[in-house]
Amino acid sequence: MGRSFFFITVSTLLIACGDTDSTPQNNSNAVESAQQANNRCSEADLVLFNTQVYTSNDAQWTAEAVAVLDQQIIYVGDNAGAEQYRCGAATTIDLEGNTVYAGFTDSHQHLEGVGRRTKTLSLFGIPTLQETVAAIEEFAANVPTGEWIQGRGWIEREWTDEQRFLNKYDVDRFTADKPLFMPRADGVSALVNSRALELAGITRDTPDPEGGRFDRDLDGSPNGYVLANAMNVFRELIPPDTDAYLKDNLLRGLRANAAMGWTQTQDAGMSYRLVDLMQEIHREGNMAHRVYAAIPVDEAWTMLDERGRETTDDYFFDVRGIKVFIDGTLGSRGAALIDNYSDADHNGFMNRTTKEELMPILYEALRKGVQIETHVIGDRAVRSLLDWYEEAYSFVPRSEWASTDLRWRMEHAQIIPPSDQQRFVNMGVLPSMQPSHGIGDLNFAPDRLGPDRLGYAYPWQQLIDRGLMILAGSDAPVEVGDPRIEFYAAVARKRLDGTSGPGWHPELAVSRESALKMLTLWPAHGAFQESLRGSIEVGKLADFTVFDRDLMAVEEQEILNAEVVMTVVGGKITYQRN
Ligand SMILES: [Zn+2]
Repeated sequence: MGRSFFFITVSTLLIACGDTDSTPQNNSNAVESAQQANNRCSEADLVLFNTQVYTSNDAQWTAEAVAVLDQQIIYVGDNAGAEQYRCGAATTIDLEGNTVYAGFTDSHQHLEGVGRRTKTLSLFGIPTLQETVAAIEEFAANVPTGEWIQGRGWIEREWTDEQRFLNKYDVDRFTADKPLFMPRADGVSALVNSRALELAGITRDTPDPEGGRFDRDLDGSPNGYVLANAMNVFRELIPPDTDAYLKDNLLRGLRANAAMGWTQTQDAGMSYRLVDLMQEIHREGNMAHRVYAAIPVDEAWTMLDERGRETTDDYFFDVRGIKVFIDGTLGSRGAALIDNYSDADHNGFMNRTTKEELMPILYEALRKGVQIETHVIGDRAVRSLLDWYEEAYSFVPRSEWASTDLRWRMEHAQIIPPSDQQRFVNMGVLPSMQPSHGIGDLNFAPDRLGPDRLGYAYPWQQLIDRGLMILAGSDAPVEVGDPRIEFYAAVARKRLDGTSGPGWHPELAVSRESALKMLTLWPAHGAFQESLRGSIEVGKLADFTVFDRDLMAVEEQEILNAEVVMTVVGGKITYQRN
């Protein structure tokens, strides 16, 4: 069978060479006779040709064809030069009209949550409070008495009827016999009902926990909207997930991501239980894309003292960091600001991880060469962490560092005053940001922050101007987890319908070239993988995302209509449009 395939491709080659002979070409190879070309058939596994390639490599920004052998890119160039690979056993694909990009990477995601989202009530995208409550009621009716009603994704800022947080009074009417727990889209606050409060023993006399808050009625009774660490007491009551359930979620997440065009996701907080399941999935050969993971801070010492870094030989799974959580989110007024909110008489909170807990972890991370990724949103959280990183740098003598190439990251980093932006540069700290958060949050950020602070909120272009590499991600399942939305948000800085409002600072949007690097080359740097992947260059791993249109040239709004044609990881097609 291999033999007849060989003859078919050779005859294709003869025709192709005949064509090129009649056309003048720059490449001298093109004028060789078909016979000569046949004699020098170069081995390849996969050839993508007759297409527009954007490489993310400044030295050769575009090409027409790529060839792959043994997971690696062996050719990037024009169609004529690719002909020597379109022979033998190679799978050759004519991608006329489509566009090939270096494989897209989601720099901040929660893989298990992406898979879980396919199985619990999703409240994303419901336009009103009324319809949200109706959806919960319908779903709750089918949950057996006594079992937890679970879902996520409600987001009041996008409702057109009433923009307020949900509370127990919205749902108690139809949930008297079932506890309910539903995180808001940001995952940092949640709705619970009276039954859940009762099971958890939370009353007007219960104090707020460190790093969290029970929202309360005037008489002090909890009203069912709970923030940050106040969510933990409910999570502990929900029956634990089985390994089989979690593994299925991971597999679903991998498949969903590959269909979106992701070739790698960087998981911002993957527990060791999930890491072990991922290792199983890897052994079973079911990785639909690469995963680069950070362990949540509560398991930091397991990584630092026992397990260390874990990398598979094929670079499909790499565990190298620790994810730290500091403040809340801007929408829920939980982000830690230096000055008070413009629409509240407080400045948010931090200490989801305290400095006391964190510093010894930072010291040991320096000694062990572990990357730190910290969730910081408000300017107070950002500044504190810059201070703490700096304190750790000077506390541990350089001679004890495992490496001076730290690449410690700040996840979200939404509000960064100019003086602190420069500290990112000086300290080599990488901003890991979510363009989709920007265009979602800008609906309420003017109220929360006021005009002055808006000048350095979601300051993408300011950071790039300073020479910083932004690692772009979606934070799915908080956001959809779609590269088109992240790319569009970064370049348009408008709502998905193309509108924007006062204070959105269009000058902070980025060029398409920058947006492409934010989703390809720069995330590779954020994972210490820029010599392995992130751009289409000979010798790098063959990770490609193929869309049906040219994201670098189409009308802004058209970016959102692009379709994924194919996702290729390590030379293997992990998703293909029917
Ligand atoms: Zn996250």
